[in-house]
Amino acid sequence: MSKKNKRQIKKEMAKMCEFGCFICKKYYGVTNTHDLNIHHLRTGVGMGQRNHDQFICLCVKHHLWGLEAIHGIGKKAWEEKFESEISLLEWYKEQETETKING
Ligand SMILES: [Zn+2]
Ligand SMILES: [Zn+2]
Repeated sequence: MSKKNKRQIKKEMAKMCEFGCFICKKYYGVTNTHDLNIHHLRTGVGMGQRNHDQFICLCVKHHLWGLEAIHGIGKKAWEEKFESEISLLEWYKEQETETKING
């Protein structure tokens, strides 16, 4: 995978935030662009390290606080409740491609 530069990553993040929280969108059919956080995926990297190329966009409720938050209930429980971070990212990319095709 090619390394992205900071500018590209920022652009991608901004776009993702326009899309809204992934969980709100996929599971509740709502475009939630309030109190959004970027959640970095840690798959494939060592402990405590961040993979800067892979991140998803989550609202505070699904990211930090509460019974549906990945850092609130823990990644394992969260992924059981919804799905894996990676599969959400893949889902987002699919949506992106469709938008591009449809204009
Ligand atoms: Zn949400
Ligand atoms: Zn996070």
